[in-house]
Amino acid sequence: MRVLIKINYRLLLVFCFLSALSLCFSNLSYCFPLHGDSERYKKLRYKMVNNQIVARDIYDQKVLQAMRDVPRHMFVPKERRRSAYKDSPLPIGYGQTISQPYIVAFMTELLKPEKDDVAFEVGTGSGYQAAVLSQIVEKVYTVEIITPLGEAAEKRLKELNYNNITVKIGDGYYGWEKYAPFDCIIVTAASDHIPPPLIKQLKNGGKMAIPVGHPFGVQNLMLLEKSEEGEIKIRNILPVRFVPLRRKWK
Ligand code: SAH
Repeated sequence: MRVLIKINYRLLLVFCFLSALSLCFSNLSYCFPLHGDSERYKKLRYKMVNNQIVARDIYDQKVLQAMRDVPRHMFVPKERRRSAYKDSPLPIGYGQTISQPYIVAFMTELLKPEKDDVAFEVGTGSGYQAAVLSQIVEKVYTVEIITPLGEAAEKRLKELNYNNITVKIGDGYYGWEKYAPFDCIIVTAASDHIPPPLIKQLKNGGKMAIPVGHPFGVQNLMLLEKSEEGEIKIRNILPVRFVPLRRKWK
């Protein structure tokens, strides 16, 4: 009897030691997944896609897969990583925000992006929207007006191996003439009008999604479509709230 108790006591000790060790490792991968992904974040991301995106009728499989693949937590400040998969926008510094996951998916789907497309984004911010688009199209050009945000996004995208995205610091109001025309244009800051240079740089048959309205008032997500003949049709899609499109000299 005494021998049995001794053996069990030892087993118990070994069991405790192993449990503590596994707990320690699982916590480490949760708290410090600085490079790459972790199972825990992946689970949160899949849940985000089901509960926030599929549940709200986004059906494009390419968009859903991109939202499952891009590690959103790597695009928010470290102290916000735990909130990365919540149903809301998040601050990314300099008074700017990364959009709510549903809005990113919705705007991406609206553009009906195809794999041979060249896309242009105004408002790189964290680089998240560009990363999502880059999973679907051939090439993404993106412009950010706040230098440190644009530089950080460029570095992040490079580290995460998004090699088909080119970032530029500048005023996206003017588009990016050098690489125009674009199959799709996405503007992730609100303007009181649709910038004419962007309309010009949209390919015939192309689509542009842009929030239009007052900086802190009512804004509408608009879809501008250019027919194969160059005719323009603009539709009001959804009331939204975006940070304002800045103009350098204002
Ligand atoms: N698409 C971003 C979020 C955008 S927030 C993401 O996925 O994280 C809007 C961004 O637009 C901000 O970073 C802001 O600095 C930028 N912005 C505002 N006006 C701009 C302009 N005229 N040209 C380029 N970027 C602009």
